[in-house]
Amino acid sequence: MSGYSVIKDLAMRMILDLFNLPSSLSDSDSAQQQQQLRQAKADDIDFRALTTTGSTASNVMGMAAGRQWLGIHDRKVDYSQEGYDGQVVVVTNMAHATVWKAASILGIGRKQVTEVPEMGMDVKGQEEAFENAVKEQKAAGKSVLVFLSFGEVNTGIFPFNTHRIADICASNNAYLHIDGAFGIYARCSPSYEYLAQGLERAHSITACAHKWLNVPYDCGFFIYRTYLEKTILEPIFSSSAAYLPSTDSGPTHPMNISIENSQRFRSLPVWATLYAYGRNGYQKIVEENCRYAKTLFDWMKNTRSDLYTVLTEECPLNIVVFAQKMTPEMESMSEGPAKTEALGKKNAELLKRINGTGVAYFSPTVWKGRPAIRAAISNWRTTVEADWEPVRAMLEQQATIAQELV
Ligand SMILES: *Cc1c(COP(=O)(O)O)cnc(C)c1O
Repeated sequence: MSGYSVIKDLAMRMILDLFNLPSSLSDSDSAQQQQQLRQAKADDIDFRALTTTGSTASNVMGMAAGRQWLGIHDRKVDYSQEGYDGQVVVVTNMAHATVWKAASILGIGRKQVTEVPEMGMDVKGQEEAFENAVKEQKAAGKSVLVFLSFGEVNTGIFPFNTHRIADICASNNAYLHIDGAFGIYARCSPSYEYLAQGLERAHSITACAHKWLNVPYDCGFFIYRTYLEKTILEPIFSSSAAYLPSTDSGPTHPMNISIENSQRFRSLPVWATLYAYGRNGYQKIVEENCRYAKTLFDWMKNTRSDLYTVLTEECPLNIVVFAQKMTPEMESMSEGPAKTEALGKKNAELLKRINGTGVAYFSPTVWKGRPAIRAAISNWRTTVEADWEPVRAMLEQQATIAQELV
């Protein structure tokens, strides 16, 4: 094997280990691990990973794989050969914009994406709403590709119960892809892994590397059940040509199971950071970033609710979505486009000032129709001890100035 292959395989195994996903046997595994892995293999929950250019590419791959799988297993047609007949729909929850983008790229169509709203934890009626959405499509003769979002981008909210969702998928012959771009990192910590339970029920998974793994752009992971490699991925992605390496023997070449033929050595920085920090290191980074987000959330909710309003009940992971506290005049405006526009202007001004300080960088968003600001904490160097006090002081100052300007 080439140095490339050795590092790549090692890095991908480390990634699966980081996310607590069962992966293929290796001589270096302990007897107990081997036993577990053999069982996993028997149950078809053995995973492999490959690098992509990011979560967008991983989502495109997941949707392509899901469509091919549904073609073979639900419609008895090989889309990779025959072309696509428009019979697959996507059912999703609180999805990232790239889910619609993937549907558009692949010719599934943005309008074929149905979103089940507010599929966060502990909200009543979600299971029913999700099941109904799937069943409605099945009744209309469609095949269903479920695209589950693990860690909503504005709030870090997870689906209500992934095991139940996977059961519903199984009984409707639906494909399950999980977009865990950053949410999957909850599995690095015993304190947060409860959020991301049931991940191993997916057929395929998106994970990001250039966000929480802090490797250079561009890098993400596509994680898939091993048995899909030959049956689903190769028919879609293989590109054999006389001048290219043969696909007949040995491990599958990445170019035959992913988008690009020519690929950068993306797994090298992945291996390096995992070698340097290990699982324990990433647990610490994730926990510290989440602790930071919680500190920010609590401060806005409890200490300075006169300046800021947090827009969620809780802060499950590493993101806080908030807005400038409304003035009494704003509050008294009747709901509608005029109020939204006024709030949007206020928040945009405040965000510009906050980012202008250079102390922190937040992004604009809209949450449940309300213009808002989003703080996502993911840098390996950010700690509560070193970075909270300056940010707190800056936030206090900027919001106070903003209030005085009213
Ligand atoms: C960031 C993100 C994406 C897109 O990822 P890129 O790496 O920027 O392509 C997709 N899904 C989710 C949930 C994300 O957070």
